[in-house]
Amino acid sequence: MSDTQSGSRKLLGRLKRALAEPAEGQERLDRITRLIAEEMATPVCSIYLFRDQDTLELCATEGLNPESVHKTRMRMGEGLVGRVALSTKPINTGNAPSEAGFRFMPETGEELYSAFLGVPIQRLGEKLGVLVVQSKGTEAYSEDEVYAAEVVAMVLAEMTELGAFIGEGAAMSAPHQNPVMLRGGVGQEGAAEGNVLLHEPRVVVTNPFSDDAEAELARLKAAIDKLRVSVDEMLTQTDVADKDQREVLEAYRMLSNSKGWMRRMQADISRGLSAEAAVEKEQTTARARMEQVPDPYLRERLHDLDDLSNRLLRILTGQGSDTGVEMPDNPVLVARNIGPGELLAYGRGLKGIVLEEGSVGSHAAIVARALAIPLVINCERITTEALNGDHLLVDGEQGIVHLRPEESVAIAFRDKMAMMTKAQERYASIRRVPATTVYGPTIRLDMNAGLMDDLPSLKSSGAEGVGLFRTELQFLVRSKLPSRGDLAATYSRVIDASEGKRVVFRTLDIGSDKVLPYMKPQDEPNPALGWRAIRVGLDKPGVMRMQLQALIRGANGRPLSIMFPFVAQFEEFLAARQQFLDELDREERLGHPLPSKVEVGAMLETPSLAFAPKQFFELADFISVGGNDLKQFFFAADRENERVRRRYDTLNVSFLTFLEWIVMRCAETKTPLSFCGEDAGRPVEALCFSAMGFRTLSMRPASIGPVKHLLRRSNLAEVREVIDEARAAGAQSVRSAVMDWLRQQG
Ligand code: PEP
Ligand code: MG
Repeated sequence: MSDTQSGSRKLLGRLKRALAEPAEGQERLDRITRLIAEEMATPVCSIYLFRDQDTLELCATEGLNPESVHKTRMRMGEGLVGRVALSTKPINTGNAPSEAGFRFMPETGEELYSAFLGVPIQRLGEKLGVLVVQSKGTEAYSEDEVYAAEVVAMVLAEMTELGAFIGEGAAMSAPHQNPVMLRGGVGQEGAAEGNVLLHEPRVVVTNPFSDDAEAELARLKAAIDKLRVSVDEMLTQTDVADKDQREVLEAYRMLSNSKGWMRRMQADISRGLSAEAAVEKEQTTARARMEQVPDPYLRERLHDLDDLSNRLLRILTGQGSDTGVEMPDNPVLVARNIGPGELLAYGRGLKGIVLEEGSVGSHAAIVARALAIPLVINCERITTEALNGDHLLVDGEQGIVHLRPEESVAIAFRDKMAMMTKAQERYASIRRVPATTVYGPTIRLDMNAGLMDDLPSLKSSGAEGVGLFRTELQFLVRSKLPSRGDLAATYSRVIDASEGKRVVFRTLDIGSDKVLPYMKPQDEPNPALGWRAIRVGLDKPGVMRMQLQALIRGANGRPLSIMFPFVAQFEEFLAARQQFLDELDREERLGHPLPSKVEVGAMLETPSLAFAPKQFFELADFISVGGNDLKQFFFAADRENERVRRRYDTLNVSFLTFLEWIVMRCAETKTPLSFCGEDAGRPVEALCFSAMGFRTLSMRPASIGPVKHLLRRSNLAEVREVIDEARAAGAQSVRSAVMDWLRQQG
């Protein structure tokens, strides 16, 4: 064992004894700073902890003015200490005052010290504080000393997490106890109150110290061997054709054999860390790097390393992925991200979902939307802040999460939920009546669906049919391409459950954000404008043909309505429709019963289709506006980009005028027209679309009540007048005019 290793071990040994003695948090910190200073033979050692997300506070010091403890504070990024916290990287210098960002704190008396070493105290992406040593020399600290400080910081992070430094003041409050409000993005509207269910509960490392380095090294080696075997097993079990999954596993295998990884962990153990703590130290470094690496490939590899470290920790601690936590009442799932299959496995019992990553169009969001579970995405820090069982409120309307909320916040939130429930009850009373407007037409309200599970909503919501059945969910939730027989059986059950009501099946809409797990993602510069939906269907007709056959077989002699997504020009519709006709012929030749009636429609999701030749409108049996996509292309504003996606109002006069044009084109040829994007489910939008001439709207089931309620109270001719006046007056959006009018109506 080298000197430095034994020095480190001695320091950790003393730290361990100091931590084991009963003491108040403050006393512990004081002892620790003294002890580190002594062992590292440096006059100053200080510990700064976060008092809130942005502010660090000097909590203990050996060598600086004791009066400055709990007084000296700095913001993230401010001074060298703030810079260490922000960058999560050590700063080591022999000439601190000359360093960029140096800030002199006169109250501490630090002017005497020129050499400065600061290392972050962090744990799995959670920033907890900064450990600093200073000295009078003009040399930077040695590499060994930096390493020793990092190992100590790792132990401090573990101990902070375990609540070893609880004392007075915000900087020393117990971890994971305070109320936190986190802001994310809206994935699926709705509100929920419940308790945290961590998708992948953290492995708790209870002892960061090793008493016997040899034994710890042997434990690590045995665990890694086990890990390698399990990765190899997964590799032999994986379908060879499943290239993506193979690639991930190959990456796992490579990482698990990585000499650098192993060497670093062995070195940590030699310095006195337990095997678990050594794994976690590496994982923490990878997480910190993950936040800073812009290259998506490298980020993926760091994600892989993170997953692999989790597996290794579970082997070492014997904690399974369910760590014995029971499903809490009213579970709200909290995860970094989750696949559609895993989410479906949790089922409808979930009250809400909060994801640290995710995007509006991600598979998880699609499933959450289909299950009508409130979802907040991009919720930074949720997986590090939340503990299993924590109380939380999910505001899907605003994309806000209140974790461990104050009672007053919870009460206000419950009031809001009660009002929403009351409104839903009110809507139940109009479930069976049509959406007939005042002195005007009746609007047909259909629902959007994508899972068998959605079908019961057809009755409970009062929808007249399914205006959009997103068939890709059946493809997304499987790990390999579903068979024709499976699909036909599913479609048949959907038609059975609809009890004669019309169901419009949209053919597979994949590509862009919707990448199948078993399909190689295309490396496209701009996937939303890329090879997706009908473009894939026409270029690689195998899957589309199989799906069309399954639809025909599923209908089994009953009426069948299908529509093709993302048609940009007449030719595409002609070709896709021809494929369907060919499949009808083929099925007939094979002796399968043909649908009693067929309708072949197109989704209008690109502005170009609104200007297609008249022949297109004549040939299409119906047209459905996919407003989510149409709007993003009309305004050139990515529907998944939080920065721009709300920038343009749906009730912008340009968009409404464009919709009016589509209504007119369809009226010319008497082509039935509907609107099936998310906006159809927003009452004011639905009202305006109806006023522009739409007579069929398709929306998520929970929106049918509120939309119907408003339509039944409104006179469309008057709404149209309000819209036309606002347009004539040069308004950018008609929203405020329509809202004023609605307020006048009472
Ligand atoms: C749309 O684009 O409006 C639509 C209904 O399709 P999706 O949201 O599935 O792309
Ligand atoms: Mg679309």
